[in-house]
Amino acid sequence: MFIGGLHMIHKKIGAFIFQDVQNPNETKTTAVTLRLYALILSVYFLVLFCVCCFLRDVPSSLLTLICGILYVFAFRITYLNHTHFASIFSQLLTLLWITVFIQRFGWDCGVQHFLFVLLVLNFAVSFHRIRTKIFVGICTCAYRLLLYAYTRYHLPVIQLSTDASICIQTIDTLFIFAELITVMIIFTQNSQQMEHKLIRYNLELEHIASTDPLTGLFNRWQMYKRLETCISRYTQHKLQTLTVAMGDIDFFKHVNDTYGHDAGDEVLRTLSRLFCTVIGEKGEVCRWGGEEFLFVFPGMDMDEVQLLMSDLLDDIRHTPVLYERKLIHVTMTFGVEEFGRNHTMESVIQEADRKLYLGKESGRNRVIY
Ligand code: GH3
Ligand code: MG
Ligand code: MG
Repeated sequence: MFIGGLHMIHKKIGAFIFQDVQNPNETKTTAVTLRLYALILSVYFLVLFCVCCFLRDVPSSLLTLICGILYVFAFRITYLNHTHFASIFSQLLTLLWITVFIQRFGWDCGVQHFLFVLLVLNFAVSFHRIRTKIFVGICTCAYRLLLYAYTRYHLPVIQLSTDASICIQTIDTLFIFAELITVMIIFTQNSQQMEHKLIRYNLELEHIASTDPLTGLFNRWQMYKRLETCISRYTQHKLQTLTVAMGDIDFFKHVNDTYGHDAGDEVLRTLSRLFCTVIGEKGEVCRWGGEEFLFVFPGMDMDEVQLLMSDLLDDIRHTPVLYERKLIHVTMTFGVEEFGRNHTMESVIQEADRKLYLGKESGRNRVIY
């Protein structure tokens, strides 16, 4: 019960911090980074406030309290579609209190190390060009040197005891690391997510670009690429035989005219599934265009492919396509050509096509080789 309650609170806080921004010009990652940055600094100042109260340093207690409140304000404005303002406000505020603290407690208090956090934050949340980011980096470096020089010539307002110095240094170190780790986690997670998204989009695009949407088979462009690979393997003697077959549905126009275009589409889909089942791993098939299909069989010779295409033709003859309770009988004609030393990609396809044409001329529903 108690653990369940804690889990609920944890989920609610998470949802609140990781809430998306409404402004389309702002990103959630920037807002979340700034929120966590401000939140950690609010806690930091709360801790420092307690330390200052313990040291009975009233002005410093007030100063830390004001800084803490200002960071709560910075946290709040990330929810008001003012992420950009929140970013500038948080960074200027950091610069300001670092300066005040160095002047007040001296170099030994260690707050100057927050400049590194500022630097990382600037790279993570800024949408400026890389040149501007490098310029900001150089300015931050110069400012740190300036602060150091200042402390060499001016004594701090409050001379910290060794114990107080150790205490504040420890708190600083813990919070600086917490800030750096937080910003880094969000930044790297975001870029990893973007990378995965890009990989996914690329795969999707590649799939769309290489597939025929109606049948799900490869398209002509993809088959060109695959056939090219097969031919180069053949010329490098890595492949002993290579055979292609061109197939065309007989009287397909008649199917469309009799049963409708949708029925024609169903025939194309059903036959495509049948092709894949029959040829299996032996070869590849693409929709060459319209009702024409190109088959490629690496490692198979003319006789083997002729037998396979005859089996396929038998299956086509005995597999009528069911469409709206009607059975549509179709046949196909195939032209088979084996790739030889005198062939090019175009010529082997042309030859298969020529044989297909011969098959049509001599009565269709056959395999010519
Ligand atoms: P043949 O036996 O000589 O090949 O005759 P055919 O009727 O099959 O050949 P023709 O070239 O005269 O007609 C092909 C038809 O294929 C015409 C076209 O409307 C149809 N077709 C092409 N692509 C599609 C498609 O994606 N879906 C449908 N339903 N029909 C298509
Ligand atoms: Mg046809
Ligand atoms: Mg045709």
